[in-house]
Amino acid sequence: MGEAGGAVMARRWAAGILVAAACAWLSAFGSSVSRERAGAAAAEIVTPVAAKPVAPPPKPVPPPVDCRARKCVALTFDDGPMDSTAKLLDLLASRKVKATFFLVGRNAAARPDLVRREQNEGHAVANHSYTHADLGRSSSGRIASELSKTQDAIRRATGVTPTLMRPPYGSTSAKVASVTKRMGLAQVLWTVDPLDWQIRDAKAVERRIVRATRPGHIVLMHDIHPTTVAAVPAILKRLSAKGYEFVTVPELYGKPLKPGRKYVER
Ligand SMILES: [Zn+2]
Repeated sequence: MGEAGGAVMARRWAAGILVAAACAWLSAFGSSVSRERAGAAAAEIVTPVAAKPVAPPPKPVPPPVDCRARKCVALTFDDGPMDSTAKLLDLLASRKVKATFFLVGRNAAARPDLVRREQNEGHAVANHSYTHADLGRSSSGRIASELSKTQDAIRRATGVTPTLMRPPYGSTSAKVASVTKRMGLAQVLWTVDPLDWQIRDAKAVERRIVRATRPGHIVLMHDIHPTTVAAVPAILKRLSAKGYEFVTVPELYGKPLKPGRKYVER
């Protein structure tokens, strides 16, 4: 190994540097090309999306229950929303059960978060007057103001205008019929009343409802009483075991209810 050998090594070393430099240049050039391509591709996608937003795919809607052929029952809860309503909503959600809520307008105005939950979780939200007034003994003006203030409170919370109302105490009149007809509200009464507000006993509420319910019935309860909320799991379990399906009031009838008309059962 003499001087000649050293020169060969030096040439190989220089050649190696050249190759490395060429590779670095090529990779830099290559990556700038691919960046441009990526930029062009992104521009192709981004421009039309920004110009015209694509709607999200619609949520799959389960087929409606045919209550002419099935054992349906509509559970309804009046006078809320209040703190105990949140627990009821948890119970219903975990069992995928839908109900109908008749709201007192001033409670709806105080707890729009719960009204929104009821609506968003698939329940029917309806009008039960603003101050729990005896509408059957009220003037047309009072009836209209009780109902329209409640419509406003529910609409503010959910963006949806109710089409059902329930007169407090079941107290109605020709005036109530005429005002509700004008306002696009059907009157929904009930078939089964366990007097849950009076007995405040979960076991008794459960027993009365399970015993009295028949297909097509509307069951009256009050979600403002913790004893009623406590009765719900057993009511759902026992009525399910008898083959009942739980539907909202609109689902129970399967067609739009007529404003002003009174409905007691299917
Ligand atoms: Zn009530």
